[in-house]
Amino acid sequence: MSVRVAVVPGDGIGSEVVAQAVKVLRKAAAMAELGIELQWGLAGGCAVDDSGDPLPDATLQLCRESDAILFGAVGGPKWDHIAPEIRPERGLLRLRQDLGLFANLRPAKVFTALVDASPLKRELVEGLDIVTVRELTGDIYYGEPRGVTAIDGGERGINTMIYTTAEIDRIVRLAFEIAQQRSRHVTSVDKANVLETSRLWRKIVERVAGDFPDIAVEHMYVDNAAMQLVRAPKQFDVIVTGNLFGDILSDEAAMVTGSIGLAASASLGHRTALYEPVHGSAPDIAGQGVANPLAAILSVALLCQYTLKLDDLARRIEAAVEQVLAQGYRTRDLHAPGTKPVGTAEMGQFVLHALG
Ligand code: NAD
Repeated sequence: MSVRVAVVPGDGIGSEVVAQAVKVLRKAAAMAELGIELQWGLAGGCAVDDSGDPLPDATLQLCRESDAILFGAVGGPKWDHIAPEIRPERGLLRLRQDLGLFANLRPAKVFTALVDASPLKRELVEGLDIVTVRELTGDIYYGEPRGVTAIDGGERGINTMIYTTAEIDRIVRLAFEIAQQRSRHVTSVDKANVLETSRLWRKIVERVAGDFPDIAVEHMYVDNAAMQLVRAPKQFDVIVTGNLFGDILSDEAAMVTGSIGLAASASLGHRTALYEPVHGSAPDIAGQGVANPLAAILSVALLCQYTLKLDDLARRIEAAVEQVLAQGYRTRDLHAPGTKPVGTAEMGQFVLHALG
């Protein structure tokens, strides 16, 4: 078996953390005796500088022809004031749309060694392991009509929340399948007491649940879910929700684990999947060799799980990260008294060592 992976590091710390993730990917592939073909592409600000386009055709083509994409991060102050249509972040949005990446998976797992890095009390987060499954290509972010129009004495802004049966069905089905590999508990989050789209969402969840009698399903209003995530996060296993609610809740869940430098994500669609750290290009620390590469490395674990279907390999990468953290090594974002400070490359090297 041979797998094609497009490596798109992007801007700022993107290239620093992806360099470490690539080393881990190469080693993991060797451990699994898997042929892996890596090809690099430009996207984001560096691509704007190179060709005036944040997602050049060559990169798009490379991604379409790959089984998976390992993405870094895009953007930075250098490109903050260019035309909106060629801003670096537009490149990533276009890529997600082109590949039909409708499901964004964000695990929020608390590593034992980092329990005290969480802003919540130890007993609330010890052993926490949840996944948010966020719908990524529908909802109010894409619904029409939208815009700002002039009205008497002012302006009026409008966005439209839309979900179709098919869009809800495919994301909910995926969440149930993921729950089957975990603790068999799905919490569907909506605002069905107020929104028609949410009432449709709930109806489809109930219908899909009929095909998964082994999974316990619960419905929760989004305001309550936001509260429960900080009150008692361990009650959740798989959270499935729409684009807008998922955007907010998945950041909240990520922060509960301690640092944004640990949050990995997978975006799944019909074929090619995209794996990337949740964080951005961190211009404030770019080029200093201090960025935490663990989110990018844990994104490789997701690639092993969802594209390669090698769960054991994914668990071994997570275990290697856990081991390095247990040994006390920390990048600057996780420094605490008594820990051993390391830079980006050193952290990557320690994970490689632990893996092998
Ligand atoms: P950011 O995630 O880049 O940084 C927020 C803070 O977290 C900064 O203080 C940064 O130093 C820190 N941080 C982030 N990742 C870290 C890591 N791996 N290790 C240690 N510290 C880390 O968010 P921002 O500052 O709001 O955005 C910076 C740029 O990144 C902007 O141009 C934004 O549009 C872009 N961005 C891109 C993506 C993406 O490519 N998916 C996501 C978010 C933001």
